[in-house]
Amino acid sequence: MFDSHCHPTDTDNPLGVVQSAIASGVGSLLACGYNAQSNEAVLNLRDQLPGLPIAIGLHPWFATEAIGGVTELIVNSFPVAIGECGLDAAVDESTAPRMMQRKVFETQLEIAGQMKLPVSVHSRRAVAAVFDMVREYPNVRGVMHAFGGSYEQAKLFVDRGWLIGFGGVITRRNAHRVRGIARRLPLEAMVLETDAPAIGLEGVEVPNVRPAHLPRIAAALAELRGVDVSELVEATDKNAGRLFGSKVFRWTTVY
Ligand SMILES: [Zn+2]
Repeated sequence: MFDSHCHPTDTDNPLGVVQSAIASGVGSLLACGYNAQSNEAVLNLRDQLPGLPIAIGLHPWFATEAIGGVTELIVNSFPVAIGECGLDAAVDESTAPRMMQRKVFETQLEIAGQMKLPVSVHSRRAVAAVFDMVREYPNVRGVMHAFGGSYEQAKLFVDRGWLIGFGGVITRRNAHRVRGIARRLPLEAMVLETDAPAIGLEGVEVPNVRPAHLPRIAAALAELRGVDVSELVEATDKNAGRLFGSKVFRWTTVY
């Protein structure tokens, strides 16, 4: 079982958070950075857990930070993905000007194409704008993490070989739209994620969410699909391996 998007470094005890995830049946996870400080923390965590899959990137909220330092890290630190990156139209224009958001996202898509790395994409009220940018980079694949668009929009990404990340929201019975999308998309297009500690699930509120809660998300998605959890996990792991490389599952055997 693979947590395709989480932030263990946003907790007091990143190492313990990863270890408890593994103990809870999460086979592996992608620890995502999002700004200079968080990228550094993610790299430190990988020093403690050699081989830990990490993503290095600049989140749209931090678009005013220097992108140069981030691209240098991406080039030199062997992440398995670029991210968290993307566009956010809900954030204040003065905090993260749209122009700068587009520029730093573009830079990261560019590097993703050059380095043949997948991207982990944040998109809030910006799915159409993200798609317009992504289609300029036909060789770049990625995950639309915590997808908030429509089924038709999800399909546009899936048709380009992208994956859709499903997290804690699908455990909420009233989340009709995203649950509907989770039912309809092909299983080959889906990955699991917690975005811990940033997105809650039924009965576990932010900031108490951990990658260790991933089995509950897997169970909710399996129920929605009417398949066994084991079948669901096998399929989503296969999808993650296809995008991020099968090496993301190999490191934990060391511990
Ligand atoms: Zn995130």
